[in-house]
Amino acid sequence: MGGWGSGSYYRMRSSKGMAESSLPLDIRELKRKGLLTPGGTITTKWSRGGNVHSSIGAIVYKDHLLLRYTHKKTDVVEQNVFFTYTPCNYGGERIWFQCPFCGRRCAVIYSYGKYFACRICCNLTYETCNETPRDRRFSKADKLRKRIGAEPGSFNPLPYFKPKGMHQTTWDRIRGEIQYLEGIGFVELGRMLGIHDE
Ligand SMILES: [Zn+2]
Repeated sequence: MGGWGSGSYYRMRSSKGMAESSLPLDIRELKRKGLLTPGGTITTKWSRGGNVHSSIGAIVYKDHLLLRYTHKKTDVVEQNVFFTYTPCNYGGERIWFQCPFCGRRCAVIYSYGKYFACRICCNLTYETCNETPRDRRFSKADKLRKRIGAEPGSFNPLPYFKPKGMHQTTWDRIRGEIQYLEGIGFVELGRMLGIHDE
């Protein structure tokens, strides 16, 4: 895909007092404006009182949008957001975003911290200072890893033997939970990087 020189990143900025987690991107609006043609590019701007405070760029692919922007001036972010479809009553299909974090179908995604996600995922992150749901799962997994004496980080193997004095059921449960939390994390990470196995 050409046309995106290294200088063409869009900025995602927030003026003071403006919650970053409030930039809605509505797929119905993009569709209505005819912007979802594969190969096309989109620029979306958000303004308040006539002043543009944030903008992002996106490339349209057949089954997803690649959002591109800079976060906090220097951090270049690329995020894939996949489409999902439901049949319409009168034939044809209705297009939706698939939340990159929880996989839910949604018409609107919102920015929060660095990434875009559905309303539900965004609400979750209010409680944890902009950690994404994925980060939260990994940090929860790390806490559990500590309990069984494993190195933090999902790339480190889990120990074969349970710590002395720990019940077998506790051991099994913790191991299972770590694998679950980290498994989900990997699927999402893969999706964000564009490696998807659907
Ligand atoms: Zn979500």
